[in-house]
Amino acid sequence: MRPILPINKSEILKRYKPINPNTHKGIQGHALLIGGSYGKIGAISLASKACLKTGCGLVSVFVPRCGYKIIQTAVPEVMVLNDVSVKYITRIVFDFVPNAIGIGPGMGQDIETHTALHRFVKTNKVPLVIDADGLNILSQNKQWLTFLPEKTIFTPHQKELERLIGQWDSIADKIEKTIAFSKQNNLIMVMKGAPTFIIDGDTIYENTTGNAALATAGTGDVLTGMITSLLAQSYDPIDAAILGVYLHGLTADIALPETGYQSFIASDCIANIGKAYL
Ligand code: AMP
Ligand code: MG
Repeated sequence: MRPILPINKSEILKRYKPINPNTHKGIQGHALLIGGSYGKIGAISLASKACLKTGCGLVSVFVPRCGYKIIQTAVPEVMVLNDVSVKYITRIVFDFVPNAIGIGPGMGQDIETHTALHRFVKTNKVPLVIDADGLNILSQNKQWLTFLPEKTIFTPHQKELERLIGQWDSIADKIEKTIAFSKQNNLIMVMKGAPTFIIDGDTIYENTTGNAALATAGTGDVLTGMITSLLAQSYDPIDAAILGVYLHGLTADIALPETGYQSFIASDCIANIGKAYL
């Protein structure tokens, strides 16, 4: 049996960096979130709001044209860039260097989006979080994995993980296969579930926060925004993953007495990020 390290409060306090009172938005990190498609702009909207609420100074969002007004209205604090195409992302272009990028929520898998992701990963050097359709497209094009910056963070749910590593026959087998995948590609794997495990090469962490209220639409998109925010604030990738997963689970633990399991929604995660930090 491999040792499993619990992600608990003492582990978090070792990694957490308090805010410098003299900071300003220009040095609090600039995150870029890329995603959304017709009918799924909500996913990238949730991610971008969660990203801001996790503390980075500036957030830009890249969406297809149909997302432009929606994001500007739903999250006025973010800056919006849009693709030439109305419904899907076809060519990812921006003229600044963000501190971290999160890509995938709501992005869809149009063939032109495959091409856009290929071009993006071939040139990108910025620390990266990949989720959802970003992972689904990569799982169909595993030869692109060699382009990713070292310690890129993957945040698959069970189905996305299966597409990446294949089927498993037990939890132990699933963990071994994920360790092999993490080592082979030099990635950090956030294996979302109940509980969430984080795999960094041979090291396995198990989160201790979160509850079944999180089993609802959009909570994974919120997590992507939170981890991308921490990465943009200069946390090492493993610390960004650990802190993000812990705080995300904690938002649901804090909200539970008010919402119960049934009435909790992903926006309740976002609303409780501030309390989770306390
Ligand atoms: P996604 O499927 O991408 O929307 O991600 C769902 C998020 O909710 C992940 O962070 C999961 O770990 C979390 N989650 C879903 N169901 C549960 C559960 N029953 N207990 C704890 N966390 C959960
Ligand atoms: Mg998801």
